Amino acid sequence: MDRNPTIAAEGSGNRQGALYAKLPVEPIPASRFHLSGFLYSRNFLKQSLSDRPDIWSPCGLLQLASSEKERQKHLKLSDSGNYPDSIVRFVEQAEASKLAGITVNNSGLFFPEAGWATPPLLCEWLTDHPNISVKTSTEIIKLERADTLWKAYSQDNTVISAAVVVVASAADSAKFEQLDSLPVQNIRGQVSLTRSEISTTPLKTVLCCEGYISPAKEGRFCFGATFDLKDEARDIRESGHQHNLDKISDISIELGTALRNYHTENGLDGRVGFRCASPDKLPMIGPVPVYDEFIKDYAQLSRDAKKIIETAPKHYPGLFANLAHGSKGLISGPISGEIIAAMLEDEPLPIEKELIDKLNPARFIIKNLIRRTI
Ligand SMILES: Cc1cc2nc3c(=O)[nH]c(=O)nc-3n(C[C@H](O)[C@H](O)[C@H](O)COP(=O)(O)OP(=O)(O)OC[C@H]3O[C@@H](n4cnc5c(N)ncnc54)[C@H](O)[C@@H]3O)c2cc1C
Repeated sequence: MDRNPTIAAEGSGNRQGALYAKLPVEPIPASRFHLSGFLYSRNFLKQSLSDRPDIWSPCGLLQLASSEKERQKHLKLSDSGNYPDSIVRFVEQAEASKLAGITVNNSGLFFPEAGWATPPLLCEWLTDHPNISVKTSTEIIKLERADTLWKAYSQDNTVISAAVVVVASAADSAKFEQLDSLPVQNIRGQVSLTRSEISTTPLKTVLCCEGYISPAKEGRFCFGATFDLKDEARDIRESGHQHNLDKISDISIELGTALRNYHTENGLDGRVGFRCASPDKLPMIGPVPVYDEFIKDYAQLSRDAKKIIETAPKHYPGLFANLAHGSKGLISGPISGEIIAAMLEDEPLPIEKELIDKLNPARFIIKNLIRRTI
């Protein structure tokens, strides 16, 4: 069920998003999850959608250095032996420019398996399945459990019943009383779009640094994005376009100049969306905790953080969260769906237990008890 007339019309509504995992020199749990998610999305797209260049492109991605310090970090990552060349390798500026098809400003890391995807088309393709019925223009205003079923009440008082509910409504999940203790934050982002072809810029790979740009799709470039905290406004701003143009100039003067000239002559289109983020920037995937029961059962943690408490965690039966994908939904969304499916079907999980725990929606209650902030 989705409140909009079409699915993937909010955070996931961008024309093109970068499909890649930014990696640290030494892997940490968060980056191990992101790398697993990237490989999962990538393999899924390759297996299922190799004939749909309108939905995604495995064109490779260059993460360019913004400073000498970052260049050194890239060299260190490449020398670390932590990642195979098939995932990421260091490239000097000349090679990076050759791969990109335009002159870029610096050396960088090349991710040959990465690329871009169009989230609304991917979501349409995924839901076009005989076992899936999509109800659009249906805003759920309340969730209630009756006997063994959940009842979802929509704005026009229609009731839809199901044994299992997965709440995937980004920051608006907090409007449901069962999920209102999960800490989520909206981060506004504006992308810029050219309205027509710029023939002088044959970009071949996705480029990213602080901003990002994908090769033109049907002749149009999509680039961005702003990162606006505590800003819920949906208007397209000239200041947002200027920010995005500056970020592209930081990546490639050649491309930045071409886009800036285009903007002067033709004007840019824009789109505003909201990223939903958690305090530790990892998504919240799994069963929804019963807040009051957690507070009661694990209260001793505020006196002794290391206390082993045997009481089994209490969750709402059949209620799951799939939220807070931040700026990385293309790599964290698909694997998260698979994690929840595996939990529901009692199948082996696609990632290790340590990482599942890092994504557990209840982690913030436990952290806050230990920190004595609740
Ligand atoms: C500017 C910008 C640039 C980005 N760039 C990238 C990128 O390059 N690469 C990348 O991987 N990610 C990127 N992201 C992030 C990515 O788009 C998100 O992580 C992803 O879209 C999150 O998907 P979601 O399904 O969790 O949330 P959303 O797509 O926001 O979906 C939530 C859905 O819930 C529905 N909804 C909410 N409340 C209700 C209700 N009460 N009843 C019914 N329906 C409801 C909404 O209609 C919406 O469709 C970007 C995001 C933005 C904003």
